[in-house]
Amino acid sequence: MTTNTLVRGRRTDLRATYSPPQEENPFAAMAARLDRAAAELELDADIYRILRQPERQLTVAIPVRMDSGAIEVFTGHRVVHNTGRGPGKGGIRFDPRVSLDEVSALAAWMTWKCAVVDVPFGGAKGGVMCDPLVMSPGELERLTRRYTSAIIDGLGPDSDVPAPDVNTNERVMAWVMDTYSMHVGHTVPAVVTGKPVALGGSLGRREATGRGCMIATREALVHLGMSLTGATVAVQGFGNVGSVAAQQLSRAGARVVGIGDRTGALYDARGIDVDEAAAWVRRHGTLEGYAKGTSLTNAELLTLDVDVLVPAALENVITTKNAARVRAKVVCEGANGPTTAEADEILEENGIFVIPDILANAGGVTVSYFEWVQNRAGYAWTEALVNERLEDTMVRGFRDVLELSRNRQVSMRTAAYMLSMSRVAAVHELRGVYA
Ligand code: NAD
Repeated sequence: MTTNTLVRGRRTDLRATYSPPQEENPFAAMAARLDRAAAELELDADIYRILRQPERQLTVAIPVRMDSGAIEVFTGHRVVHNTGRGPGKGGIRFDPRVSLDEVSALAAWMTWKCAVVDVPFGGAKGGVMCDPLVMSPGELERLTRRYTSAIIDGLGPDSDVPAPDVNTNERVMAWVMDTYSMHVGHTVPAVVTGKPVALGGSLGRREATGRGCMIATREALVHLGMSLTGATVAVQGFGNVGSVAAQQLSRAGARVVGIGDRTGALYDARGIDVDEAAAWVRRHGTLEGYAKGTSLTNAELLTLDVDVLVPAALENVITTKNAARVRAKVVCEGANGPTTAEADEILEENGIFVIPDILANAGGVTVSYFEWVQNRAGYAWTEALVNERLEDTMVRGFRDVLELSRNRQVSMRTAAYMLSMSRVAAVHELRGVYA
C-alpha cells in the first residue's frame, strides 16, 4: 500500500500495485547472476549467505508541503547492501517505479561495481517514489531535504555516501550536502558526490560514467579486432549517461546513428550531431521535437543493425521478448540492469559481446571516489588528472574481467561477478564475523 496518494488532483496512484513479472524483478535478476558466479567460484556457502543479503533496508515516509498547500506523503528507501570494503556508496533515484526490490538490487550492484574496479567502497542506493517531472523546484527541494533528514542516521563520509542517479543531479546533491551539514553543524562536502564543483564536486564527474562507457567500448572493440573509428552506435537514454556516452563515442571517432529517450528515438545513417542534440535536451528537457533524422520507437532503436548498442536508460529493456532481435556486436550497459538474466543467455548464444553494467558504467563511481578523496584531502585535482586516473581504472577493470572470462571460459558478466565477489568475500574472510 503506497502512502503517496495525492490529496488534490494531479495523480492518484504511483504504481501502487505494480508488481513486475519475475523476469523483470531486478533483485531476482541480480541474485541469478550471483548464484551463477558463486557456483563458478565454488564460494564458501557461509560467506555467500552474507553477500546475498542487504545489510540494512530503510523505508521512510516523507511528508512534503506541495505548492498547492496540501501535504503529500512520499515513500523513500535507502538500502546499504555491503560495507565490508568501505562506506556504502550509491545514487539516489527519483522515479514513480522505485520499489524496495529495485533499490536493493541497485545497492547490491554498487557493491559489485566498486569491487570490479577496486574502489574502496561498499554498495548502497536510495530512491523516492515520486514523479519529479511534474514537481516544481521548490517541491523537489523540500522532498530532498526531508528524505535526507529521514535517512540521516546512516549517512556520513565514513558510512554511506549518496550520489546522483535517475532524475537527480548536482542541484539535488547540493541540497543533500547542505541538509546533512546543517544537522551536524559544520560543512561536510564528502557526505555526497556528484556535487557542483563550487561545493567541492570533482571536475570530470558529470562526464565520468559516459566517458567510462566509451573507454570500455573502445577496449571491447580492440579485443574483437575492430576499431572505434567508424563504428556505428545506437544509444538508448539521453540523460547524464547516454548523452555523454554518445558525445564521447562520437568524439573518439564512432558514428552515432541512433539515439532515444522516454519521448521516442531517431535514426540518421550519416551520423547524428550529438552535441546539437545534447544542447536541444539542455534547452527543452527531452529529445521531443528534435527532428533531425527518421523517427523510431525505442523498441526499433534497440534492434538497429549497429556495431555497438548502449542501453543507458533504465532496467529490463533487453528481455526474452527482444533479445533474439538485438543485432549489435557489442552491448555496453550504460544503465544498471538493462538486460534480464534470461536475456543474457540469448545474447551469449548469439555471440554478442556484453560489457556488463557493473563494469561498463563504473566510471561514475570511480570519479565519485576521486571526489571523496579530494574532499577529504581538501585538495582539488585538475580535470586532466581525473580523466587520466579514470582511464587507468577503467582499462585495468576491463582487462581484469576479460582475462578471467577467457581463463574460466565464462561470459564477461559472470567474470565480472566472479572478480567482484571474490574481492568482497576475501574481505569478509579476513575480517571474520563480529559476534
Ligand atoms: P537521467 O535521468 O539523467 O537520464 C535517463 C534517460 O533515460 C533520459 O534521457 C530519459 O528520457 C530516458 N528514459 C527514461 N525512461 C525511458 C524509457 N522508458 N525508454 C527510453 N528512454 C527512457 O539518468 P542517468 O543518470 O543518465 O542514469 C541512466 C542509467 O544509468 C540508470 O540505470 C542509472 O542507474 C545508470 N547509472 C547512472 C550513473 C550516473 O553517474 N548518473 C552511474 C552509473 C549508472
